[in-house]
Amino acid sequence: MKTLPLGVEPVVAPRHIFNDSRSLIGLTHKEVAEKLREIGIPEKQCRMRAQQIWHWIYFRGAKSFDEMKNISKEMRNKFAEHFDVGRPEIIEALISKDGTRKWLMKFPDRQEVETVFIPEADRGTLCISSQVGCTLTCKFCHTGTQRLVRNLSPTEIVMQLLVARDYLGEWPSPSEGRLVSTIVLMGMGEPLYNFENVKKAMQIVMDDNGINLSRRRITLSTSGVVPEIYRCGEELGVNLAISLHAVDDETRSEIMPINKKYPIDELLTACKNYGGIKNSRKITFEYILLKGINDSDEDAFKLVKLIKDYKIHAKVNLIPFNPWPGSSYERPGKERISKFSKIIFDQGISAPIRTTRGEDILAACGQLKSESEKARKSIKKT
Ligand code: SF4
Repeated sequence: MKTLPLGVEPVVAPRHIFNDSRSLIGLTHKEVAEKLREIGIPEKQCRMRAQQIWHWIYFRGAKSFDEMKNISKEMRNKFAEHFDVGRPEIIEALISKDGTRKWLMKFPDRQEVETVFIPEADRGTLCISSQVGCTLTCKFCHTGTQRLVRNLSPTEIVMQLLVARDYLGEWPSPSEGRLVSTIVLMGMGEPLYNFENVKKAMQIVMDDNGINLSRRRITLSTSGVVPEIYRCGEELGVNLAISLHAVDDETRSEIMPINKKYPIDELLTACKNYGGIKNSRKITFEYILLKGINDSDEDAFKLVKLIKDYKIHAKVNLIPFNPWPGSSYERPGKERISKFSKIIFDQGISAPIRTTRGEDILAACGQLKSESEKARKSIKKT
């Protein structure tokens, strides 16, 4: 077995190939019923059969119609002729020394995305991708160096959760003590540039006939696509995280070009009015610390002032920069990071320093995909 960087052994991954256009995953009940109608299932049965299929996919984790034992063999064969409930090809399934897991999946058009699972003492967070590549070019982010290839379909977004649960052995779907207890749309891509598909995928994940994950357990992280933030609040109501990363327009526009379109004032106004913050849910501001760019005491004080001026119920997540080859930024020293955090905490706002997870499998924030490709190429060479 080949050795990955830092001695991480790849997990041998089974190959499940699925066909997106035939897949029933990522379709609503109504759509599944409609598909059944199209292949001649009697009208009276369509709803009930759709419910059975839903239960098998999202509660039992079935990967084939053969597993659906309460459906007659004849009917199962008919379904299999027309449809698919299998998984994409998993080309890498890695486990970090710290327990973080990463899956690289390949879809039928050969496009790949990464999904990361981060186990913690009190929860397990699945970081889901919403696009292949990204249109935005945040300067600190390695994904941002790849061009956008395409949006992921609802099937492909939901599939990432199903694959994680397959590997974690989390079927049938438990109602309590779940390993995957939280989803963050924070992987590759800008979820609000693929809002329709993300919305549909999350509605399926939240449906109480299936996985039944509460909207409070889902966080959508955006670089600040202001009009869609309003829509997200009204139509989805999940938790919101904002990649803020700077406290003045000049610096933010430099490291996040989207700021030229939606400057800080517009962004924070949208946060203040976010429909999903009823019941005093907090908005999370992600703040990547870049040495000499946005990590001064003054920046920390300005950040607190902004949050207070806009009266946003917020917490700040501080992320020390994860360097990648070719990036022009550096991670600040430990003392600088601690001081920055302390200033914010002292003003009554929570600002924990996020520990980097899964560094040995290149699963850390902003490192997704490009590095994996590089690692795979170097493995092939050895
Ligand atoms: S941080 Fe997010 S939005 Fe910005 S380039 Fe990276 S993936 Fe795209």
